[in-house]
Amino acid sequence: MASVQIRDVQKYFGSTQVIRGVNIDIKDGEFAVLVGPSGCGKSTLLRMLAGLEEITQGEILIGDKVVNNVQPKERDIAMVFQNYALYPHMTVYDNMAFSLILAKSDKAVIKERVDKASEVLGLGALLERYPRQLSGGQRQRVAMGRAIVRDPQVFLFDEPLSNLDAKLRVQMRAEIKALHQRLGTTSVYVTHDQIEAMTMADQIVVMHDGVVEQFGKPLEIYDHPRNLFVAGFIGSPA
Ligand code: ADP
Ligand code: MG
Repeated sequence: MASVQIRDVQKYFGSTQVIRGVNIDIKDGEFAVLVGPSGCGKSTLLRMLAGLEEITQGEILIGDKVVNNVQPKERDIAMVFQNYALYPHMTVYDNMAFSLILAKSDKAVIKERVDKASEVLGLGALLERYPRQLSGGQRQRVAMGRAIVRDPQVFLFDEPLSNLDAKLRVQMRAEIKALHQRLGTTSVYVTHDQIEAMTMADQIVVMHDGVVEQFGKPLEIYDHPRNLFVAGFIGSPA
């Protein structure tokens, strides 16, 4: 695991500024949730952490290393997306092993990593199945398995549950938290759902229109919102 520091980061798309000087400090092993309305810049920030989007100004550190110019593959992070398309023609095992095969990892290492991930996720009995033979929750678990096998320093999640029905969403929140408790990997989790943020976060980062409105523990923010935006956003369900 590693700490994540975002220092005075700005992002422009053309002449439009979408991130306006953001500072966030996430400690080793912490589960941080970025929450805010659609369009406030959450995905852009996460994509900059992942190295998928250039940083216009400022610095991002993973551990004690500035990663602004480090390629995504070299960043030691793994990302779980909202649209976690699995490879339909590959088994569960191969879906999880694929990135390690591409990275030319040792066969024994691949097997060990996939076995561990499937044990942690309760996928052991499903390794020979194909994605079409899985439920929505099982597919979501395979998507997480693909991130876990890489044994990254940091997990990034971009609204991973937003395509699931309400009941499964609640169940998967608990599963992701349990996974975090077991692995202890520093995590940055993006959602527009206040309840998800309140129930999952060690630290919540409330974003609005490209700025951080407040950063703190869920109950601190709930009890002491710093301004009307935070009070309204955390106080009222989506
Ligand atoms: P969120 O994930 O919080 O919904 P995004 O980070 O996706 O927000 O988007 C933040 C803002 O940046 C939005 O106004 C969006 O339209 C804009 N934006 C995102 N990606 C691009 C892009 N590639 N080019 C231009 N504008 C973009
Ligand atoms: Mg988004």
